[in-house]
Amino acid sequence: MSQTTMEKAQSGAVIPSLTDSEGQFLKNVREFVAKEVLPNTRTWEENTAFPDEIWEKLGKVGMLDMVVPESMGGSGRSCRAYVEMCLELAKGDPALSMNLAAVNALVIGHLVHFGSDAQREKYLKPAMEGKLKLAWGLTEPDAGSDARRVKTVATQIEGEDGWWHLNGEKMFITNGGKADLIVMVARTGEKELSAFLMETDQPGFELIDRIHTIGVRASNTVRFKLNNARAWHTPCTFEQAISLLYRGRLGIAAMAVGIAEKAMELALEYSQQREQFNRRLCDMQSVQNMLADCGMDVEAAKLLLFKGAAMFDRGEDITLQSSYAKLFASEAANRVTNRAIQIHGGRGMTFEYLVEKLWRDAKLTEIGEGCSEIQRLVISKQLLRGSNV
Ligand SMILES: Cc1cc2nc3c(=O)[nH]c(=O)nc-3n(C[C@H](O)[C@H](O)[C@H](O)COP(=O)(O)OP(=O)(O)OC[C@H]3O[C@@H](n4cnc5c(N)ncnc54)[C@H](O)[C@@H]3O)c2cc1C
Repeated sequence: MSQTTMEKAQSGAVIPSLTDSEGQFLKNVREFVAKEVLPNTRTWEENTAFPDEIWEKLGKVGMLDMVVPESMGGSGRSCRAYVEMCLELAKGDPALSMNLAAVNALVIGHLVHFGSDAQREKYLKPAMEGKLKLAWGLTEPDAGSDARRVKTVATQIEGEDGWWHLNGEKMFITNGGKADLIVMVARTGEKELSAFLMETDQPGFELIDRIHTIGVRASNTVRFKLNNARAWHTPCTFEQAISLLYRGRLGIAAMAVGIAEKAMELALEYSQQREQFNRRLCDMQSVQNMLADCGMDVEAAKLLLFKGAAMFDRGEDITLQSSYAKLFASEAANRVTNRAIQIHGGRGMTFEYLVEKLWRDAKLTEIGEGCSEIQRLVISKQLLRGSNV
């Protein structure tokens, strides 16, 4: 759906429009996606890697400074602009969108909210320029959905204020094999957890292996070990560090909406070209029904997403809304990509057509940053808390 139609469909009071500057930024993002991302998405998947230069290019378009306030040297864009960026990127390459969603919300966001002046001074500028590659390390072999089970232990280094040794193992870390700096969640006491900044260029950081996945294959997903690895403490509680996931979940929801929208566009196009029984597919009612359901899924997911972003921009609590948006959008993306393959018939199952890749990439959105079952738990907990019964 075009930007204008979408804007018209929104009740302006709930979801404000983008500013002119943000509109221009998103135009630049769309141009970048058309020129640099979409034409390369298959090659990146085949290589199971993005080119290293991509990060500096993303920095130049302004995709890495948007969650940094102007007072800290960033562009301080709205959450609405952040989710629209993730959405547009996902239409070109979902794996890249996932990386940007995590890097902005969870790593650069962490530096902004919990970094000391000295830490921000050292890392923010190169991070915004894409010169410093980043990752976020929470998940471990025994700590997935139950993130509090993190076993990586942090011990203070005597005589070195703010510096700790980390010992443990992390897995499923996006961009972990490429990152220069990783935000690491570790145990500081029997019941306490906190977060640290760790440079990977040190003997204590040991890459174990690359984890190959069915979707988002270009993304560098890895497992690594920490053996007395030096890390710089960013004083914050576990709850504070994890609270960044709320905006992060909107990023994954945006990735899902981008995937769904792209799959729908491809299905619409194909259904108007292909003829069987002397009719175009789009003239058959069963196909029209599938297209209608795709449109409804995309629209509903987008509205939940934009509402969440608008709430974030107004400083409201988005615990519930971010789970609504992520849960609905991720399941919608899986439904829409599945229908898009159906409309393409046998060709939809071949590597010639992008819909099969979108279908594989969509699966991640139901798992990463809290699987669907966890989103349902969050939602029901919030609903029960607000209920007077
Ligand atoms: C491609 C990819 C990239 C990732 N990137 C990162 C990253 O950058 N950083 C990072 O820290 N992590 C990352 N992750 C990890 C991701 O966040 C976890 O995979 C996710 O949180 C689920 O954890 P798990 O895989 O251990 O599954 P588990 O927690 O073992 O859960 C398995 C299944 O059990 C069910 N389940 C679990 N708990 C409950 C419950 N309470 N109620 C009902 N059902 C439940 C769900 O169906 C769930 O899918 C990534 C994962 C993937 C696949």
